Amino acid sequence: MRMSKMFFKTLREDPSEAEIASHKLLLRGGFIKKSASGIYSYMNLGYRVIRKIEQIVREEMDSHDAQEINMSAVQPRELWEESGRWDTFGPEMFKLKDRNDREFCLAPTAEEFFTDLIRSDVNSYKKLPINIYQIKTKYRDEKRPRFGINRAREFLMKDAYSFDKTQEDMVASYKNMWEAYENIYDRLELDYRIVRGDSGAIGGNESHEFTALSDVGEGVITYCDSCDFSATDEKAEVAYNYDNSNEDIKELEKVETKGVKTIDDLAKLLKVDKDRCLKAVDLMVKGERIVVFIPGSRELNLTKLIKHLGCAEHEIEMMGDEDIKSMGSFPGYTGPIGLKADRLIADERVKNIKNAIIGANEENYHYMNYNISDNEKFEFVDDLLMIAEGDVCPKCGGKLEFKRGIEVGNIFQLGQKYSKSMKATFLDENGKDEYFWMGCYGVGISRTVSAIVEQNNDEKGIIWPISSCPYEAIVTIVNVKDEEQNKLAEEIYQKLLAEKVEVLLDDRAERAGVKFNDRDLIGIPLRITVGKLASEGKVEYSTRREMENEEIDASEAINKIIAYIKERKNNRG
Ligand code: ATP
Ligand code: MG
Repeated sequence: MRMSKMFFKTLREDPSEAEIASHKLLLRGGFIKKSASGIYSYMNLGYRVIRKIEQIVREEMDSHDAQEINMSAVQPRELWEESGRWDTFGPEMFKLKDRNDREFCLAPTAEEFFTDLIRSDVNSYKKLPINIYQIKTKYRDEKRPRFGINRAREFLMKDAYSFDKTQEDMVASYKNMWEAYENIYDRLELDYRIVRGDSGAIGGNESHEFTALSDVGEGVITYCDSCDFSATDEKAEVAYNYDNSNEDIKELEKVETKGVKTIDDLAKLLKVDKDRCLKAVDLMVKGERIVVFIPGSRELNLTKLIKHLGCAEHEIEMMGDEDIKSMGSFPGYTGPIGLKADRLIADERVKNIKNAIIGANEENYHYMNYNISDNEKFEFVDDLLMIAEGDVCPKCGGKLEFKRGIEVGNIFQLGQKYSKSMKATFLDENGKDEYFWMGCYGVGISRTVSAIVEQNNDEKGIIWPISSCPYEAIVTIVNVKDEEQNKLAEEIYQKLLAEKVEVLLDDRAERAGVKFNDRDLIGIPLRITVGKLASEGKVEYSTRREMENEEIDASEAINKIIAYIKERKNNRG
């Protein structure tokens, strides 16, 4: 592509709304354009990156026996009613009506749609297994769209669905996709970890997330340095073992705690461990006042609570002051004694806390020496805690490492969740109706672009790996008014094109400095600069990552580029 003819515009300054490197650089480099909050369009450079990633995903899916189809993005309400997700998806779903008032949504994902397809067309075990996928724009009205295409409201996802006749076969399909995903993220040259995840709104049994390591990632993953334990922080079991149960039970005592705002203040004032103070979390869930008690040193894990309650995330709200007062309590002083909540829930392990400190449901007062033991007012739940730095491995007691990451893909064993709710059956080998065993597998194609940029940039711009670069090489003419420079650059450009190298020719009538800055910003991996040495047939050759210039013959520079690309392609395994 001749850049003099290319529709593209780079920005000098960082756009003010962009907080992270990938968001800034993709906007500045003219890869994407914002049209509304969380809604982006792709320009030439950005769309080429998307297509490269799509191609890698396609090749790996196809070589793992999956077939690509393309389902409509507009889906009827009725299908979502069958699975119960029309409501549980909540405000994240973009809903619309046609002129006859029939309701639809813009697909946020497609489990229902694919299940419906298979239940109507597949009736015998003989046709199984089936694995079908699409690469399709998804729509989610995210509560907090942020970081550009990292958490967008319109984004590109590859979603695959497998249908098997037995649970065993489902697990085999899962492993097959696991392997495809390892190949995909290896080929994309990402530094990633595979961790056990939460099944969230999708539901089901086992799931894993593929997480690209990045300090700006919204997800936290934890893994053990001595065994194979690894999980997202939402999923990780917490080995919490504070236990003072050998203490003698003391008498309940009301104490004044004026001005105490936090558990820290409370523990300091009463000179006790934070673990000994019960933290009350006041929640409103579908009109029910639910109070959850956990040890004061810990945070509530909402994902685990949601699983216990069987509700959707958007149905949980913090209780307002008036609701707290309606339980006969006072904000900041909620405690179990005499509390008129609709449900009292506690992490099982608070039973081991003797002589605990609790709110007295009265402003400025707490009780000391409360003993919960097996109080039947409580629903005890095995584990409601968020894992935290310093916790030991729940599997082997080893040391846990914590890292931030960007979830770029995930795989789920859905089991028969959707096939049962949607009555999707086939005839098994004995002629009996059986529900399909399903799995689903997502790759966030557009989010992957931002993860790659997060892992590959410097102060000057993006450094694309060869596997996902918009163009492999760029030939820059320092002075387009110079005949010799133009002639040599043109020759090089033609030769590279003939070798099927994806090459840009910067033949714009711009100052050299502008061209060099743009070149660094858009991060083309292999570079040839045609300048003053053109009369001797020499050029400067450099790579974007190393940025070291070599003055060599034009033919040698061409050969280097061809060899580099060939070697990388051969190495991709
Ligand atoms: P998250 O926890 O980040 O919201 P999710 O669990 O909702 O993700 P899935 O529904 O499993 O995500 O979607 C599959 C993949 O699509 C994710 O792994 C992620 O890479 C991508 N994805 C999900 N939501 C978005 C979004 N709002 N913008 C860009 N990519 C997304
Ligand atoms: Mg989500």
